[in-house]
Amino acid sequence: MSGLVKGWCPGALRPMETADGLVLRIRPHGSRLDVEQACAIADLAEAHGSGLIDLGTRAHVQLRGVRAESLPALHAALAGLGLLDPDPRAEARRNILTTPVWRDDETPRLVAALEAALDAAPSLPPKFGFAVDTGERAVLGGASADIRIERSSQGLILRADGMALGEPVTAETAAPRAVGLAHWFAAHRGGITRMARLIATGLAPLRPATVPPLTGAPLVPGTTPFGLCLALPFGQMEAKTLRAIAVAPLRLTPWRSVLVEGVAELPVPDGLIADAGDPLLRVAACTGAPGCASASVATRDLARRLAPMVPRGCTLHVSGCAKGCAHPGAADVTLTGREGRFDLILNGPAGGEPLARDLTPDELTGHLRGHLAPYL
Ligand code: SF4
Repeated sequence: MSGLVKGWCPGALRPMETADGLVLRIRPHGSRLDVEQACAIADLAEAHGSGLIDLGTRAHVQLRGVRAESLPALHAALAGLGLLDPDPRAEARRNILTTPVWRDDETPRLVAALEAALDAAPSLPPKFGFAVDTGERAVLGGASADIRIERSSQGLILRADGMALGEPVTAETAAPRAVGLAHWFAAHRGGITRMARLIATGLAPLRPATVPPLTGAPLVPGTTPFGLCLALPFGQMEAKTLRAIAVAPLRLTPWRSVLVEGVAELPVPDGLIADAGDPLLRVAACTGAPGCASASVATRDLARRLAPMVPRGCTLHVSGCAKGCAHPGAADVTLTGREGRFDLILNGPAGGEPLARDLTPDELTGHLRGHLAPYL
């Protein structure tokens, strides 16, 4: 089927095939949906997909279980909402994560300028992305991005991921300089796909980087000065949940949460988390079986069952296979599915060296209790 590609990085114009239908990824401008867009996406998820909506670590929205014959209608609707790029190349390039904690500042203007400037960007690897992190403090340092526009004590800076310091820029020069840095990366990268890895080779862009960003902590669920922050367990919600919280514009975060802009309180729909102490926030789990063809085990029900055993400050990752999509880094305990059973890895990623192998879900409880005991 033309226009469909296999791979981990789908778009709206290039959906990804999975075991439970197509995954169609929408990239909201400024990592934000207005009320009309959010309600329409909920309707589209129900009309053309499974009704399940994912929120990814780059603040993208994904519709699951989409039928191929629905694509023309979906594309027409997304175009009407201002959420469709003119072509797959432009869509892939518009990989911009925006801070959720901006307030009456130049952030929206910077995002628009960067989107326009990307027309002149070189060809970049699929995971390569930009962050506009220009609230009072930069909060996206732990989120995936290669070129960052941030706030410093001296004004705006442009920072290559992997460098501690950035070069001073203005609201006018930030976007063209970001594209200039992308050209520098493209010219020097060889086979390297991410900025931090290129910087780690000892190369540095020519312009002087002299200023550190002002940094702040990521948002946690609950009432914040910017609105109500609600977390999505495993980064997923039902369409009716999205509709229920779309009482104001929604700012999408890379921490699998949604900020309901300017709203202090809201009846929290079932399936969302407004309490930063909820144990489900300590657990990551991918789609697993049967939704992902690479998985031989179900993941999320097990993760829900095990979550109450995970102490504060600890993390548990239940992965359908060694790829580790839900949590690419290390967790305190990782359970990786293999041939219908689980391997247990301590302080490592899903593909790490197991401490115990071939465990059944029932055997896991005892093992987990033992390994987490030192943290209790
Ligand atoms: S980690 Fe493996 S099983 Fe889980 S979603 Fe990724 S590819 Fe599928």
